[in-house]
Amino acid sequence: MKIANDKIVNIDYTLTSPDGTVLDSSEGTPLPYLHGKGNIIDGLEKALEGKTAGDHVDVVIAPADGYGERQEDMVQKIERSRFEGVENIEPGMQFQAESPEGIQMIMVVAADEEIVTVDGNHPLAGVELHFSVDIREVRDASAEELEHGHVHGPDGHHH
Ligand code: ZN
Repeated sequence: MKIANDKIVNIDYTLTSPDGTVLDSSEGTPLPYLHGKGNIIDGLEKALEGKTAGDHVDVVIAPADGYGERQEDMVQKIERSRFEGVENIEPGMQFQAESPEGIQMIMVVAADEEIVTVDGNHPLAGVELHFSVDIREVRDASAEELEHGHVHGPDGHHH
């Protein structure tokens, strides 16, 4: 069976940056996803289209088809007084913020007595993604899975 819209696909994957650092991996537990619904990044979905169980796919995905380009206007300086109730603000801390596009994660990149600099870019924005994928299984989605837009079963949603 070929990977196409509305198929459930089980993949083992390793994601590395251009310098070979492992950024993410299924760690031997295949990840099931519903193809064609934007459940995985665009570039990877395109690369897997038409492949079958047993295929191995190596693909390099440009930031535009991955987590987007970095947008420097998403780096902002905020007065520390706006972080009321947060005692220690240190680089690397993450906060949720409301934005016009919904809830967004922002990360503190610098902080002094008065000003906190935060970055709302996705941590992998601007990064070329190197995926190594083994396709384990391709099956039809159930009517219920299609209705919900995600996978049910042992490794998917339970409800
Ligand atoms: Zn569901």
